[in-house]
Amino acid sequence: MSGLLLEVDGVSRQFVVRRSILGRPAAVLTAVDGVSFSLAAGQTLALVGESGSGKSTLGRLVLRLIDPTAGRIRFDGRDVTALKERELRPLRRNAQLIFQDPYASLNPRMTVGQILAEPLALHDVVPPPRRAERVNELLRMVGLEPRMIRRYPHEFSGGQRQRIAIARALAVEPKLIVCDEPVSALDVSIRAQVINLLRNLQQRLGLAYIFISHDLAVVKHIADRIAVMHLGRIVEIGPSQALFTNPRHPYTRALLSAIPVPDPGAKRERIILRGETPSALHPPAGCAFHTRCRFAVARCETEQPELVGGSHATACHHADELPPAANVVPHQGRMPQALARLVDAFRHRADRQGGAGVATVETTGGNGLSTARMP
Ligand code: SF4
Repeated sequence: MSGLLLEVDGVSRQFVVRRSILGRPAAVLTAVDGVSFSLAAGQTLALVGESGSGKSTLGRLVLRLIDPTAGRIRFDGRDVTALKERELRPLRRNAQLIFQDPYASLNPRMTVGQILAEPLALHDVVPPPRRAERVNELLRMVGLEPRMIRRYPHEFSGGQRQRIAIARALAVEPKLIVCDEPVSALDVSIRAQVINLLRNLQQRLGLAYIFISHDLAVVKHIADRIAVMHLGRIVEIGPSQALFTNPRHPYTRALLSAIPVPDPGAKRERIILRGETPSALHPPAGCAFHTRCRFAVARCETEQPELVGGSHATACHHADELPPAANVVPHQGRMPQALARLVDAFRHRADRQGGAGVATVETTGGNGLSTARMP
């Protein structure tokens, strides 16, 4: 496949969490386990899963902020797996990271102008006489005004701080940005604005994104492809549309069923996962999802399923035999006429207000997923 920017092949990462008195590993946590995927320039791959699924670790492995235990990573045609720190300079410039909490990632003692000028000087992106002009340009690109250049991070709102973090990532003209939960710390009304900004920048600049989120409803609006992760492994990966209309893995179906619908008359089956997420320190044998899967059979307890299926791949022994997914996808039910008119009135009001476009938000209890839905 041509035009590939990133190729991740069988990457794993283990952490020693406890050592014996002789210094030998006594407990090892496998955060990422044999993950493979590729990403083309200008495309977005979303990594989705519950807390502890390994998605943030995978994002940092791609950036070589941590070293893989096994596997290979190719970026822009070059194997970066074993490069020494001083050899990683081109990767450091071409692949950037945006954090969940923009306030924690911005130096509170630096003005916005200094924050944006720092990477320009570090990577010598533009000559010194042009740096002030470039800083102004970066601010305009993310929807902020150059007159804000002397302000400090605490003088901005959460959404504005995330815009500054995006501008700082853009300063070095990267090809890839890893966005680690970039909107989950923001107010619901601001989330869609930041996602729209990321989409617009992608179209203008040809950026590729790895968009990490626990929220399938958010990634629906930005991802070309989605990889669902569970206990360090990808259990389903495919085009965004295919994953939403035809989810094949029982875990993906459960995540999708947790997305609230704005229509109080809509009916659908909510899949409640039984039990806790197994510990990554002691993952179950066989399919790691079998302790919570309602379709599990004896084979699932002993045999780990491979990720198979081409462009829409699934790691499930019974993916082809499961009942159709239609019963987990929201469908419209009948509601009383008066209630329908009321819902319709609010829908039109939201349309007129435009802006964020976020209709509802809900925090679910069962699986700890916080979800928002956008029209
Ligand atoms: Fe469920 Fe078995 Fe498929 Fe795992 S392999 S998701 S336990 S049916």
